[in-house]
Amino acid sequence: MSDRRLSTRTPRKRVSRYFGLLFAFIFSSSLSFARVVILDPGHGGEDSGASAFFPSLNKKLLEKDIVLVYAEFLKKALEEKNIKVILTRQEDLFLSLQQRAALSHYWKADLFLSLHLNSSEDPKIGGLELFYLTPNSKEVREKIQKEAISGNSLYKKTPNPSLNSLLTEIILEHSVLSSKFLASKIGSTLEVGPLKEFGVTFRGIGPELFYVLAFTQRPSLLIEIGFFSNPEEREKLLLPEFQEQWAKAVAQGIELFFEEKVQDISLL
Ligand SMILES: [Zn+2]
Repeated sequence: MSDRRLSTRTPRKRVSRYFGLLFAFIFSSSLSFARVVILDPGHGGEDSGASAFFPSLNKKLLEKDIVLVYAEFLKKALEEKNIKVILTRQEDLFLSLQQRAALSHYWKADLFLSLHLNSSEDPKIGGLELFYLTPNSKEVREKIQKEAISGNSLYKKTPNPSLNSLLTEIILEHSVLSSKFLASKIGSTLEVGPLKEFGVTFRGIGPELFYVLAFTQRPSLLIEIGFFSNPEEREKLLLPEFQEQWAKAVAQGIELFFEEKVQDISLL
């Protein structure tokens, strides 16, 4: 009763102004955070990744710590472009590949980027490399399907093996195509920017079997930022100027990807 009385007493103008403000708020928040990117600093906790001794600092540095710094720079650069960013870890924490990928489902992320440093027995090898998920692997298909059946409602709605395998093909084709396109955008902005300026080789874009990319089921890349095993290159990888410019170039590539992406099939 009192509710009803209250509503009849509420002036029409006030109600419409209230809804106007509400819609403006929803609209502006959907505009400002229209895109979601998951950044995954590789390794963490007991898993340190690559390591190298820096004589200038008189200490050993670990891949898991360096990639976290890169993730934070990239987060800042993307947020400046009004892109929402979620980090899989913000501290030195061990996470399984499934846990990392699960965040992209939870946030319905548009993109997933895993950040790593490369390592080789040959200390002369250097350069940045971008990897997307190889589409030519039976193992990848099985992983996608297994993961999807356990966590994806779309698969549960169609408990038909042939439909599920068709869905797997669609997810794979869409995410691999988009990932390659994303890699081309990020690769070109990096190549003419920080890589050129700091003399870091661009090793190119290639398909690779990385399970974390299969688990995400969406456009995703693994970026090997540089070789920690190369003494000259690892010094550059520590430079805040390189880190910042690298982040700005990657963010610009992501922005171009969002602007130029023709199709936006959201299956998940
Ligand atoms: Zn790594």
